[in-house]
Amino acid sequence: MQEVCRQSLAAAAAEGAVSIVTIRLRVGELAGVELEALRFAFPLVMQDTIGAHAQLQIESEPAICHCEPCGKTFHAKQGLGDCPSCGTLSHRLLSGQALQLVALEVN
Ligand SMILES: [Zn+2]
Repeated sequence: MQEVCRQSLAAAAAEGAVSIVTIRLRVGELAGVELEALRFAFPLVMQDTIGAHAQLQIESEPAICHCEPCGKTFHAKQGLGDCPSCGTLSHRLLSGQALQLVALEVN
């Protein structure tokens, strides 16, 4: 979380921004991040920076598993699961662990 805030500030500074208007983050279901906690921590981390009044937007990324034997992908909230088509247990996670900055709007 602090890492993405730091990235946002660095990116904004690189553009010569005076202030950050919005920050859009992609947060995976398996990123281990509580959205409530994230929203709460955000203004505290951004306090006294050019991102102090930034609006936080969160885009959630579903946990998607890939099944090797049949090539299907499916939603597996726990990060692993039985393929709905063939029943194979898959641990091959394609997405769902992201915690990244996707867009930044600055002034
Ligand atoms: Zn399968």
